[in-house]
Amino acid sequence: MAAAFHTFLCLSDNIGVLVHDAATGETASVDVPEAAAVERALRETNWRLTKIIVTHRHSDHVQGIPELKAKTGARVVAPKKASAQVTHADELVGEGAKVKVGNLIASVLETPGHCADHISYWFAADKALFAGDTIFTLGCGRVSEAPPAVLWSSLQRIAALPDDTRIWSGHEYTLSNARFALSVDGENAALKSRAEAFARARAAGKLTVPTTLAEEKATNPFLRATDPHVQRAVGMVGADAAAVFAELRQRKNRF
Ligand SMILES: [Zn+2]
Repeated sequence: MAAAFHTFLCLSDNIGVLVHDAATGETASVDVPEAAAVERALRETNWRLTKIIVTHRHSDHVQGIPELKAKTGARVVAPKKASAQVTHADELVGEGAKVKVGNLIASVLETPGHCADHISYWFAADKALFAGDTIFTLGCGRVSEAPPAVLWSSLQRIAALPDDTRIWSGHEYTLSNARFALSVDGENAALKSRAEAFARARAAGKLTVPTTLAEEKATNPFLRATDPHVQRAVGMVGADAAAVFAELRQRKNRF
């Protein structure tokens, strides 16, 4: 049986997600920006929390864990490299580890670049990726603790997944991301129509997560560092893709 997903807003712009296995009733929360929002989502779905799966150590992703774990007894799975910060972890995982939510199985992909400990959870059977702050709808995470090329290579790993992969990211930053994307890829018709659809969706209070890999490849400038239009916009026609990516990331920081 396929997985069920429930996506909701936490804090001001964090994305909360519940991953549910109907066959066993087990449910995981991807990160816990705040316990109250996850508890509300559990009441709405009538799902029982059994696991918390952590993408990275930043406080806006882990600060609700102690409270939610105390209330639910959920088992906490966290990145090995975040062991010092995620002190409530029951299990520490790295590249290639398998994480189960009932009968659903995720492979852990190490996706550093936003921060060194960042991992993503890939549920291959459901083609669902929980990418935290590595990639966003029309954007990507900020770079810290490593050169931009590290995040670029993590994005390339994600880009190698099937095109119909659904991607859940950690934040609802899409309108700001769309403005930047249009500034470097303004002739992209698919991007223009997506930006318009997202503006309508946000005005109606809808989230723009999940996205799909195919749509991101067509419209996310951070996956389009080899595209001649994007390269021309930053004055780097023919340059190395990782260098173009680094320039795009710099420009987004200043945007
Ligand atoms: Zn973060």
